[in-house]
Amino acid sequence: MNISLNQIITPEGAFLIGLICIIYLYIRILRRKSAKTRIELSTSPDEIPQSSMTETELDRYSRHILLREIGGQGQSKLRKAKVLVVGAGGLGSPILSYLAAAGVGTIGVIDDDLVSLSNLQRQVLFDEDHLDYPKVFAVKDKIKKLNPFIDILPFNRRLTTLEAELLFIEFDLIVDGSDNFSTRQVVNLACVKLNKPLVSGAISQWEGQVSIFNETKNSACYACIFPIEPADGLAPNCAEGGVMGALPGIIGSVMASEVIKKITGAGVNLTNKLMIFDALNNEFSKINIKKNINCKICKEHYET
Ligand SMILES: [Zn+2]
Repeated sequence: MNISLNQIITPEGAFLIGLICIIYLYIRILRRKSAKTRIELSTSPDEIPQSSMTETELDRYSRHILLREIGGQGQSKLRKAKVLVVGAGGLGSPILSYLAAAGVGTIGVIDDDLVSLSNLQRQVLFDEDHLDYPKVFAVKDKIKKLNPFIDILPFNRRLTTLEAELLFIEFDLIVDGSDNFSTRQVVNLACVKLNKPLVSGAISQWEGQVSIFNETKNSACYACIFPIEPADGLAPNCAEGGVMGALPGIIGSVMASEVIKKITGAGVNLTNKLMIFDALNNEFSKINIKKNINCKICKEHYET
């Protein structure tokens, strides 16, 4: 016996099937709309591409993203940035901690020192388990726990003139947290030759200073301001003259702030300015500095 489709589907049945189809289509449209709303809610006001930052990262950096001067775009710039920190000591501890926490995507650190007991009074990245351990590897251990979303590249050696240029070329910005004049000269020379901005800081006893050098062709380099080594006893390092434990925390934090501002374009940097902090008298001061027309380093680089 042949039964046609028309005989099975009654007018009432056809109406029911039509109604089910309409409800199904309506649910699909609602689902699509709700997924779109979820994506929109998870992005920052200046729209971070979903492919470039995960929801976890958006949550982690949300307090930066809320800042008008940084926002989603600034956070993406931090993520793409490559910063090299010279020195993993007193200044290096806050610099590395804050840059890593801020989400600077690639951080290199160079130092040849081992963690010693006298470091623990101020070098807050380390603890007693790190004693006699190379500082750069201790930094890597701590930083990876602080922020697993970034890459940390440890260089366990002393910076040499020969290597400086080869290493610096891989980074966008150099931060000098070293504790001696000869290393600062090596760092500055390579930065001038490669046109790399240099955030530089130094501390001694109760005082510290910060500046950003080589930011443009017309801004001062480190040697413009400090052409010769200070006389013995004038600027003793921590091992010679001692240092107040919280001082590197303050100066290193200002240095990290300069790096974050430079990368994101927020605010004004310490270009052609030297900021000085006197902890004993609670004084922050800022003095104007300028390019020295007789600076040997600038002359060699810019007049050849
Ligand atoms: Zn110079």
